[in-house]
Amino acid sequence: MLIESLYCSCIEGEVPPDHYWPTKGSKTPPCPSPPMPLPWLLAILDINLNDDIHSGNRMSATRMQSCARRIAIEDNLYSRRINLQRFNSPTWGTAIHEFMQKHTPAGFYQEIELPPKGAPPVFLFKGTEAEIAVRGRLDILTPDTVLLDDYKCTSESSQKFRFNRKGADPEWRAQASVYKLLGERSTEGAIKIERAAVWSGAMTSARCPAPPWFRIPLAWMGEEEILLMKPHGAEFSVADNIIQFKTFLRAKKEIDEIYRVRKVDGDDKVEYGDGYTTALKGIIQKMPLAGRGAWRGEMCKKYCGVSRLCNEMEGLVVL
Ligand code: SF4
Ligand SMILES: [Zn+2]
Repeated sequence: MLIESLYCSCIEGEVPPDHYWPTKGSKTPPCPSPPMPLPWLLAILDINLNDDIHSGNRMSATRMQSCARRIAIEDNLYSRRINLQRFNSPTWGTAIHEFMQKHTPAGFYQEIELPPKGAPPVFLFKGTEAEIAVRGRLDILTPDTVLLDDYKCTSESSQKFRFNRKGADPEWRAQASVYKLLGERSTEGAIKIERAAVWSGAMTSARCPAPPWFRIPLAWMGEEEILLMKPHGAEFSVADNIIQFKTFLRAKKEIDEIYRVRKVDGDDKVEYGDGYTTALKGIIQKMPLAGRGAWRGEMCKKYCGVSRLCNEMEGLVVL
C-alpha cells in the first residue's frame, strides 16, 4: 500500500507518515497521544508499506477474494489521511502468525512463499478470461508436506459461531485450494499438499462455550468452483474480480506508455509526466465498487484501508 499521510486524533487531522516516530531531519515532534502502543503502530506501517505479496499489481490467493478496485488503489495511488485503527484486527492475525512461526518445531515448513521469490510465475485458471499469475504465502506444512494448517484468529463471539456451525467458510476452502494448485504448479519449490485445515483461534473467556482453538478440515475446490464463488457475500465472483483487475492492468499499460518519461542519465527507473495520477484515477473510477456488498456492507466501511480515496473518487467526501 502507498501512504502519503495518516489521520491522527491528536490534531483530528492529517499528519506525516513518520508522525509516531519521526525520522532524521523531521520538523515535527512525535505524537503526544498515540492511539496504540508505538511498536504496534510501527508494525502496522511496516506490514502495509513493505508487503511484497500484496503489492506491485500482483494477484494473490487472498486478493482474488477482495475488491479489484481496492487492489488498483492500494498499489498505484498514494492514500492520504490513513486511519491506522482500521488495520488493527489484521495486525492481531499477523502477530499470532509471527508467534507461531517462532515456536514451530524444526523440520516443518512455515510461512513459505509460492512460487518462491525469483522463480517463474504460476498461472491459474488457464484458458479462461481470468487466467492470471498468482502468488501466496502459506502458514505451515507438516514435514512430509501432506497437511496444510492455516491459522484464522477471531473474536470470542465469532469463535462461538464457528464452533457451533462446525463447517468451513467457502473463502477458506478457496484460499487453501489456491495454495494446493500453486504447490503443484511451481516449477521451483513444488510441494504436494494432500489435506488442509484451519485452526480457528480466539482469546476466549472462562465462560465461553467454545474452546480457544479448534481445527476445521477443509474440502478442496476445483478451479472452476473458485472462479464462480462470490466471496464474503459480494455481488461479484472471483472471476469477475480478476477480470476487472486485468481490464485495469490493460488500461494502465496504455497510459503508462503515454505518460512515460525516460530518464536521460541511463537509470532504469521510469518516471511519469504531469497528469499521470489523474489519468490513473480516471481508469480506477471506471471500476465497479465491488466491495460494497461484501461482509454485509461492512467491507468498505470497516475493512478497506483505501475507502477514503475510493469514496472521494465517487464524489463522497469523508471528513
Ligand atoms: S471502499 Fe469498497 S468498493 Fe471501494 S475500494 Fe474499498 S472495498 Fe472496494
Ligand atoms: Zn498524533
